Amino acid sequence: MAVLVTGGAGYIGSHTVAALQERGEEIVIVDNLQQGHKEALLGGKLYVGDLRDSDFLDTVFKENSIDAVIHFAANSLVGESMKLPGKYYHNNVYGTLCLLEKMNEYGVNKIVFSSTAATYGEPENVPIDEYDRTLPTNAYGETKLAMEKMMKWFDVAHGIKYISLRYFNAAGAHDSGKIGEDHNPETHLVPIVLEAALGKRPHISVFGDDYATEDGTCIRDYIHVSDLADAHVLAVQKLRGGSESSVYNLGNGHGFSVKQVIEIARNVTGREIPAVIEPRRAGDPAVLVASSDRARKELGWNPTRSALENIIQSAWNWHVSRPDGYGDK
Ligand code: UDP
Repeated sequence: MAVLVTGGAGYIGSHTVAALQERGEEIVIVDNLQQGHKEALLGGKLYVGDLRDSDFLDTVFKENSIDAVIHFAANSLVGESMKLPGKYYHNNVYGTLCLLEKMNEYGVNKIVFSSTAATYGEPENVPIDEYDRTLPTNAYGETKLAMEKMMKWFDVAHGIKYISLRYFNAAGAHDSGKIGEDHNPETHLVPIVLEAALGKRPHISVFGDDYATEDGTCIRDYIHVSDLADAHVLAVQKLRGGSESSVYNLGNGHGFSVKQVIEIARNVTGREIPAVIEPRRAGDPAVLVASSDRARKELGWNPTRSALENIIQSAWNWHVSRPDGYGDK
């Protein structure tokens, strides 16, 4: 049986495809290549198309024996979602509806979902656990929460079991050096800091230094992309074992401020990395740090690569060897 990975040519998707490949899984990938890269695929059979195209999805489900889906395909930029919420509802929410309807039609009843810490919004407690309130502060997080809720009702009505993985800040690159992070446009902190280190940007803009944190900049919980990928493989195995639906946070439990990330990047790269303080970015909570105890206990997840120096070193190796990323956009 094959695992269908939607958005498998994207950043976290491609690292998950690599992890599935390393475990000998049969892999089918659906990606519209809006953000994804063909070259990011270290295995699997790629179908280029969109989840909202019903005939296209019929072909994918008819031509393959799929028993589980890992669903990454979505737009994921906080800032953009505040300007273009309609794009996020259409691609993320409607795209997921199309996928779940097809899974139901073809009798596929297991889905692992790429969710986000942005579902919580401004946290009530630090670190955040899975029972905490979900009140997103941006449209991106709101659409991911809507997708989770849709899955809940497809479970109630049709018995489609889901495991939703709420990640904190994914960063870093595969150990092989063959794949890494390449978004267009890039908006994430770690790759932007490294682009500034390479001289591809004049400086890093720090979005706000007047938050209620020790140094005034936002605090995030950074997790290595290959540790995240491992959690998806474990979640598929858990669903295959007959698990009920569930939600897990994936983070490393330690927060770093924007200024601390820049400082560690200066140490790792040995470069100056000029920083300029700019106004806050809309929709950013001050602090997002995960409690991942539940994932460790119930999924048996054991992140081993997520010390921030290690994350930044692996990302730096990728940036130095591929300064233009995959070079296809
Ligand atoms: N950030 C920043 N400058 C940048 C990009 C990001 O100061 O050029 C900040 C951003 O405001 C947030 C943190 O870095 O506080 C992490 O942002 P990112 O977009 O990487 O991830 P998010 O937490 O939004 O998922």
